[in-house]
Amino acid sequence: MLVLLLSLFGAASYAQVDLSYYLPEGYTYDESIPTPKEILGYEVGEWHVSHDQLVMYMKAVAEASDRVAFEEIGRTYEKRPQVLLTVSSPANLGKIDQIKADRAKLRQPNASVNVETMPVVMFMGYSVHGNEASGANAALLAAYHFAAAKEIAGDLENMVLLLDPAINPDGLNRFASWVNSHKSYIMNGDPNNIEFNEAWPRGRTNHYWFDLNRDWLPVQHPESRNRVRVFQEWLPNIHLDFHEMGTNSTFFFQPGVPARMHPLTPEKNFELTSKIGTYHAKALDKIGSLYFNKENYDDYYYGKGSTYPDVQGSIGILFEQASSRGHLQESVNGLLSFPFTIRNQFTANLSSFEAAKEMRQELNGFMREFYSGVENEISADPNKAYIFGNLEDDAKSYHLADLILQHDIKVFTLNEDITVNGKEFKSENSFIVPASQPQYRLIKAMFETRDTFNDSLFYDISAWTYPMAFNLDYMALNSQILNLANVTEVDKSTLKLAPGRVIGEAGAYQYAMEWTDYYAPKAAYKLMKAGFTVRVANNEFTTADGKVFGRGSLLIGKGESKLDDQAFFNKLNEIAKESTVDIHGLTTGNTSGINLGSPNITPLDTPEIALLVQGGVDSYEAGEIWHLLDQRYEIPVTLLDVDRISGATLDKYNVLLMPDGRYGSLGTSGAETIKSWISRGGTLLAKGGAIQFLADNEVAGFKFRETNEPDSAFQKAYADYEYDIGAKVTGGAIFNAKLDLTHPIGYGYTNGDIHTFRNDNLFLELSENPYANPLVYTNEPLASGYLHPSNLPGVQNGSVIQVAGVGKGRIVAYADNMNFRAFWFGTNKLYMNAIFFGQVIQSGTTR
Ligand SMILES: [Zn+2]
Repeated sequence: MLVLLLSLFGAASYAQVDLSYYLPEGYTYDESIPTPKEILGYEVGEWHVSHDQLVMYMKAVAEASDRVAFEEIGRTYEKRPQVLLTVSSPANLGKIDQIKADRAKLRQPNASVNVETMPVVMFMGYSVHGNEASGANAALLAAYHFAAAKEIAGDLENMVLLLDPAINPDGLNRFASWVNSHKSYIMNGDPNNIEFNEAWPRGRTNHYWFDLNRDWLPVQHPESRNRVRVFQEWLPNIHLDFHEMGTNSTFFFQPGVPARMHPLTPEKNFELTSKIGTYHAKALDKIGSLYFNKENYDDYYYGKGSTYPDVQGSIGILFEQASSRGHLQESVNGLLSFPFTIRNQFTANLSSFEAAKEMRQELNGFMREFYSGVENEISADPNKAYIFGNLEDDAKSYHLADLILQHDIKVFTLNEDITVNGKEFKSENSFIVPASQPQYRLIKAMFETRDTFNDSLFYDISAWTYPMAFNLDYMALNSQILNLANVTEVDKSTLKLAPGRVIGEAGAYQYAMEWTDYYAPKAAYKLMKAGFTVRVANNEFTTADGKVFGRGSLLIGKGESKLDDQAFFNKLNEIAKESTVDIHGLTTGNTSGINLGSPNITPLDTPEIALLVQGGVDSYEAGEIWHLLDQRYEIPVTLLDVDRISGATLDKYNVLLMPDGRYGSLGTSGAETIKSWISRGGTLLAKGGAIQFLADNEVAGFKFRETNEPDSAFQKAYADYEYDIGAKVTGGAIFNAKLDLTHPIGYGYTNGDIHTFRNDNLFLELSENPYANPLVYTNEPLASGYLHPSNLPGVQNGSVIQVAGVGKGRIVAYADNMNFRAFWFGTNKLYMNAIFFGQVIQSGTTR
């Protein structure tokens, strides 16, 4: 038995393998193309390739081969190049622009295009998760084989391969450093070895700890934006997405679970994916590797690499290989070697090549049909366009328009203000997206709400309705209204936020800034750092010329800056410009409502912020906060290791951020330290497991709702167990909540109807002090997405945000994620408000 398992799981590779272990039979290779070993100095699978080495090899292959073009499509946060190899016949490489132009016609039902003569295009993307490295290491073999195999020269006349060897270069490199630096010469495969147990935050994610395989649709990171640009330019027929799963599993290829496909994806997509699957099955049979399909994984969320193509006439294919993580690891199926995992991925890469070759006309025909079929759906749909905007805030609508424009979708601005169904949309911050365009289905996927589903299990989130995530005013329009509006198409390359400025003169009595703009916190921090006095108005006031400044508006004075009037004015102008927020000069303190010396205007301390990281902290939520403060608001934040918490350390900060996580390691003494720090005047922002920790350790008396009722059934089918459990998971849905606009947490919002996002089942009970619940779910809370009925009582009229007092300080507790995946622009300010205004919340209003 042992012998059999070893042969299944790569016993041949336990000792070092050579190139022939990987390569298929029946090919001869051009000797002028360097093998990976000739460039790297080691065989594929012997070490984990670092990103620099990977790029070095891709360049070497491109230099040696007339079939390969090398291109840098952009850079990551850590400035690593994102590279793309285009592999085709030399003749095709000479007319890439022509091929792309022909492919663009596939999206235009009226354009004439010959699908019988068109090449098939296959995009091959490896290791979007940096610690699923068999993909990127298989990319070495793919580049070699497709450049050097003599027998495929003819095939390439009808094929274009796009090879992105590492979708997540920063994560891949982090991981390669870890496993290589812990590799022993004599490997023993013990899973306890540090080689297999990466340090926090692990290599799966990008620089800011985001999962890039959820960012294909929101495109908030440079890696995704560059890659989606390539996708849209090429419109590939097949898109391969190489991943790894648990060490004790086998090999998965799509299709996934049939009932869990997104309804906007046509059935034909599933059929073609299944047909391509027969090629993988045959190839894996041949090398004796175990595999499965149609289980576990799905094609629902369009932000994943294997699902994004499915709503665009392309076929996304997910591969999941059991991970050896390091170089050799024990598994229930025997010893699992790194080379074995690489060989399976490469084998599936080759079977995909065969499928693409043989199904070329069918795949191009399908794409053609996909886009001509859209026409009927458009005419049947009463929604002819979507309009969105916000009266007070240009930035959020700008960011949504920018997101949509990345996907080859036309967006228009209004040439004049309009009112639709009693709602006003202003020309400077509203946009219209007509439904009648080739990307109709993708547009629908961005704007629709859905609350009925074929299946109750979701591999990822069940809702991402964008105007809700941005908390914008929006509605679907019928054609008549669209025809009435006077619009101009937006040019993607020139769309920018207008710079801010000071409205008024130097030497004003005071300067004021409204808190309504998304980027107000960015300006606020710069004003404070410049040494100016910054005060917050806790009541609204109106100037002599009738301008109303709402709650949360800031009053700015020179403070200790010692600048003369003109220099002060110039600095304000500079900050306004950089922050895209306007600042107003006020000539008198005698405003109506409250005067500018009112006790209701409170001076603010500059936030000095620490964000807890490492240990049990959820790296995704920590990364979302880090990215928000660092990239969006340019506010410095210390990433503080939970192990370093002590009274002396914390006294450097007045704001402490605790993302979701397990904080048990802090113990009661850690809890005491935090409690004493808060009581001296600190503001603590806590989410999920952090709230639980504070409650368990009696730092504050937060209470939770239990939703698990005792089961009345005395017998249930064993086979249903996993499904029943899975159906209760809240994978991610959007909820309706009511915001108290007078509370400091609500400053800057003008509409109390808020959409909020949750992806867990920790339900916070309301505080008995009704002033301590600034954001509460409504009675009918589900706005979009899936929620198991048994969880409804957890949410209904429950607490989303709650404030507790500890001595002179405050805890602001968040039941939901205000910063989800960087595209939830609509709730970011509910988080930032606690950072800036937690310090002014009155003690009698806390729980
Ligand atoms: Zn993965």
